[in-house]
Amino acid sequence: MAEEFEVVIVGSGPAGLTAAIYTARANLAPLVIEGEPSSTSDQPGGQLMLTTEVENFPGFVDGIMGPELMTTLRAQAARFGARYVTEKVSRVDLSASPFGLWVGDPTAAEPTYRARSVIVSTGAQSLMLGIPGEDRLLGHGVSTCATCDGFFFRGHRIAVVGGGDSAVEEATFLTKFADQVTIIHRRKELRASKIMQDRAFRNEKIDFIWDSTVDEVLGDGSVSGLKVRNLVTGEVSEQPFTGLFVAIGHTPNTGLFKGQLDMEDNGYLITHDGTRTNVDGVFACGDVQDHVYRQAITAAGSGCMAAIDAERWLEARAH
Ligand code: NAP
Repeated sequence: MAEEFEVVIVGSGPAGLTAAIYTARANLAPLVIEGEPSSTSDQPGGQLMLTTEVENFPGFVDGIMGPELMTTLRAQAARFGARYVTEKVSRVDLSASPFGLWVGDPTAAEPTYRARSVIVSTGAQSLMLGIPGEDRLLGHGVSTCATCDGFFFRGHRIAVVGGGDSAVEEATFLTKFADQVTIIHRRKELRASKIMQDRAFRNEKIDFIWDSTVDEVLGDGSVSGLKVRNLVTGEVSEQPFTGLFVAIGHTPNTGLFKGQLDMEDNGYLITHDGTRTNVDGVFACGDVQDHVYRQAITAAGSGCMAAIDAERWLEARAH
């Protein structure tokens, strides 16, 4: 028989763990299915596990390291009775409460856990280019997070791929470390907001390669160059960059919920009246339903909302 919980929280970034703190303190003894360790941002603790210093989470005058913040939030929820399973959910059945959640074999007839309510906080992760060399050199000159890795690129010649706010923000941040940062964009105008564009155009350390894509990341143990293709002329050249930051957007971790929870065209979950999804008793919080703010503190705030929404929903059903 599957063990049944009042609340199961799927995902353990700032949203999920804040929901765990609140539901645990409401005596709902939540189960957090926190994910599995990996090199990507869908691991336990989420994107902050790939970050170094976090300076904008309120309450820490001198900042705090991302992994330390997540370890602290995890322990805080455990103190009030939250339980953790360090595995990934492989299948969900949200057709009726109590909902079914599987970990391990998704073809098993019985779910591993049942939940009267579910809080989805599976987050989002960086999109990658999918070109040769990118995976192999991730962490060895290829990065998706300037805040995390910029420090290691002092004196390097860095390329940032993308034309949105993320690319411009990453490039601007990287000029603290590098002498020159080049934004490589597939069109000849940026998508970034006007104010961010102006900042980049004014920054003498930022230059641009327009109408171009990166075809391949070169190098053995570290990045030694990039194959850059000009999309107008078709010309391919090898450029001696030693760092590549990929900043082409994020994708929400919502594959598990396709066909069951309503999503926008870009895959983000749709919520209404706080954190409610289209399924009564299923709530969503954090980056999985937010492609606008995407901050640790906004994720934590919506985790608190989801916990309160779930608590009230359970309470109303009990009467
Ligand atoms: P985005 O706005 O979707 O921009 C992605 C960029 O990557 C676009 O320029 C796109 O090119 C390019 N791109 C996508 N796939 C590509 C591929 N396969 N190869 C090469 N280039 C590719 O994503 P974002 O910059 O991450 O921003 C997401 C949201 O967060 C936005 O709403 C943004 O305003 C917000 N944000 C705000 C701030 C801030 O205000 N401080 C900072 C970061 C993000 P095209 O232009 O040709 O489509």
